[in-house]
Amino acid sequence: MSDVKLSPFMKTEPTQDLESFKGVKKVPFEEYYTSGHRTCQGCESAQIMRLVAKAAGPRSVVLTATGCMYVANTSYYSTPWGVPWMHTQLGSAGSAGLGTAAAYKCLQRKGKIKNEPINVISICGDGGGADMGLNAISATMCHPNYNLLILLYDNETYANTDIQISGTSPYGAHTSFSTPGKVKRIMNARWKKNVAPLMATGHPTVKYVGTISTSYALQAMNCVRKALTIGGPTFIHCLNPCPKGWDFDPIMAHELGELAVNTGIWPLYEIENGVLKLYGKTEQIANGKFKRLPVRDYLLKQGRFAHFTDDDIEYFQSKIDEMWNDWLVPGVIPLRKG
Ligand code: SF4
Ligand code: MG
Repeated sequence: MSDVKLSPFMKTEPTQDLESFKGVKKVPFEEYYTSGHRTCQGCESAQIMRLVAKAAGPRSVVLTATGCMYVANTSYYSTPWGVPWMHTQLGSAGSAGLGTAAAYKCLQRKGKIKNEPINVISICGDGGGADMGLNAISATMCHPNYNLLILLYDNETYANTDIQISGTSPYGAHTSFSTPGKVKRIMNARWKKNVAPLMATGHPTVKYVGTISTSYALQAMNCVRKALTIGGPTFIHCLNPCPKGWDFDPIMAHELGELAVNTGIWPLYEIENGVLKLYGKTEQIANGKFKRLPVRDYLLKQGRFAHFTDDDIEYFQSKIDEMWNDWLVPGVIPLRKG
């Protein structure tokens, strides 16, 4: 939506022009998410917090809904955040982000604070973003007059409360609510929610939607910078390997993030004002320049899939093949031609 049609009262304020980092050597040394947290060794969710803070810089305000990145980050007067930070309720990432963006706009309009670009970044996990907070995020995506980014860090369970199943838990994964048994081996027969396209196709007012991976850190930071420069509302979905919930040695966290992309399970793309652009290895997969690795390489490195039989792996592979061979927009939109 163009600002020209809006009353001056409703106009969005300018954002910071955060140009892409042209290579790792151009990334600043300054950290705005640093020591003082208690996340597990190898936690890729903590890694995306660090990358987002680095990409956004000091003129930022961060809100975090309940989840690992709240509880493990802010224990008793300690915090790793070097920018203003606030906790909000589990289902409130959308409303808290929108309210904060509106409050800054109001204070600036009344001359109470300097009229300068401020990044409002509202963070939620998969429980807070893909499940119980989905309604508030959906409502926020329908407000084109406020600048804010919603970042969903996806460790594919309610990890903070001991690895319960969420709407983004993958098919068949062993969680504390889907423990494989002798009679029934696959206790989670649902397929992972496809959240980014849900945001992009269901909300004509959303200006930017992206998927990222911490294993591709430079691209992840540049997606964040692009979203913040575009303004809002914007949405980013990040897949974050979780050693505790996925049951793997922490040293493999980076490799598992790469494998999720290289097997085609986690496609990387940006949708800017309705225009889709695949990037990185995902673009190469789509153009036939890189052959997807078998999902077996990814699944069998994680204890949560240790109960899988060959048939289970084959079924998982067939669903990923379907994504790339049969979907109208391969890897992104699960519609088929009639
Ligand atoms: Fe990170 Fe998972 Fe540990 Fe939570 S449980 S702090 S997401 S590794
Ligand atoms: Mg989670």
